[in-house]
Amino acid sequence: MQKTRKCPECRGIIKPGQTDLNYELEKIHVSVRNVPSSVCGKCGRSYIDGHTAEDVNRLVNRVVEDINSFSKTHPPISERYREVAIAV
Ligand SMILES: [Zn+2]
Repeated sequence: MQKTRKCPECRGIIKPGQTDLNYELEKIHVSVRNVPSSVCGKCGRSYIDGHTAEDVNRLVNRVVEDINSFSKTHPPISERYREVAIAV
């Protein structure tokens, strides 16, 4: 059951949508695209629920760990992996 939610910022109506999240971690730029979220139809602000935020955090941490261990064994390649985009 989904109740109509109002944006705390502008009182606009919040609808299900998708958003992009960007993280700067240990010199690695990670963007996560198409994250399910609630988006205000008026001001465009997006709200992500706790569960989704947790999942995304876990995913980003794992990716950063993988990149770091990969960089250690492949030093010349690491430069290219500074920017990572994940689509969910
Ligand atoms: Zn709003």
